[in-house]
Amino acid sequence: SDVLLEVEGLKKYFPVKAGLLQKTVGHIKAVDDVSFAIKKGETFGLVGESGCGKSTTGRTLIRLYEPTDGKILFEGKDISGLNEKQLKPYRKDIQMVFQDPYSSLNPRKTVGTILEEPFRVHKLYSKAERKERVEHLLEKVGLNPDLRNRYPHEFSGGQRQRIGIARALTLNPKLIIGDEPVSALDVSIQSQVLNIMDDLQKDFGLTYLFIAHDLGVVKHISDRIGVMYLGRMMEVAPKRELYSNPLHPYTQALLSAVPKSHPSEVKKERIILKGDVPSPSNPPTGCVFHTRCPKAMDHCKVEVPKLQELEPGHFVACHLYN
Ligand code: SF4
Ligand code: MG
Repeated sequence: SDVLLEVEGLKKYFPVKAGLLQKTVGHIKAVDDVSFAIKKGETFGLVGESGCGKSTTGRTLIRLYEPTDGKILFEGKDISGLNEKQLKPYRKDIQMVFQDPYSSLNPRKTVGTILEEPFRVHKLYSKAERKERVEHLLEKVGLNPDLRNRYPHEFSGGQRQRIGIARALTLNPKLIIGDEPVSALDVSIQSQVLNIMDDLQKDFGLTYLFIAHDLGVVKHISDRIGVMYLGRMMEVAPKRELYSNPLHPYTQALLSAVPKSHPSEVKKERIILKGDVPSPSNPPTGCVFHTRCPKAMDHCKVEVPKLQELEPGHFVACHLYN
């Protein structure tokens, strides 16, 4: 099979507690019935505004959060219900790169020590081999291997994110989940880091799940893109198809906010959505987007639209296409 990861009906609900006894009074439906698949060697961009559940999806996939329901098939095996011991082999295969490299790197350890840690935990290689591998990884992310004795605070934000990427690569993972890995960086640095990630993908045969809050960042790096809103998947399509023929009204609005990347592109009229994103603890009935959708119809308030394949590989959840 050419599929590396398949997510089926994934749900992650967080209890809302209140009162002296901290009784559960409701749930935040952070991820609600989300399905998609990532093919080997591709980059799948997962996009949506903050609070749409994209980060929770990423964290649930690496089991930082326990899924409430649904399947997570990695190389065909459902890892959603595995315990810590059973998960161990998969911990190596799936690695995460976080948005904030500052907080994920121990400030009291040298970069060399940080990068060697996974080898020590998994009892891999001799001391000399570890050093050699760390130097090789630093080179691979475009850093001078002599910098291995420096501490994280001695590096710039972009360099720190390269270190975060190097650390994710130590155990030869198959899938890397990037949770907004370039969002905290200056625009000029963003493209450098994206280019490095692109090169590493080819060198190491990596598959990426790339999480971002707008469609601008994922435009170049993604092969396919999924758009989330309020915990649900609204549209999934190959990149070119999504940008040239967006079907979901929410995708259309997001795309209208992306600046033209080439003068020859047709200027799209900006679609301004009314209102704010509703609370995920009390999402709208029917289509969760209906309170803001410029094309909403009466039955959108009642019926939840299913994600359906309209054209090969192009999925959309919207009653306009029934
Ligand atoms: Fe808009 Fe209705 Fe489609 Fe939802 S289902 S996106 S409310 S038209
Ligand atoms: Mg690529």
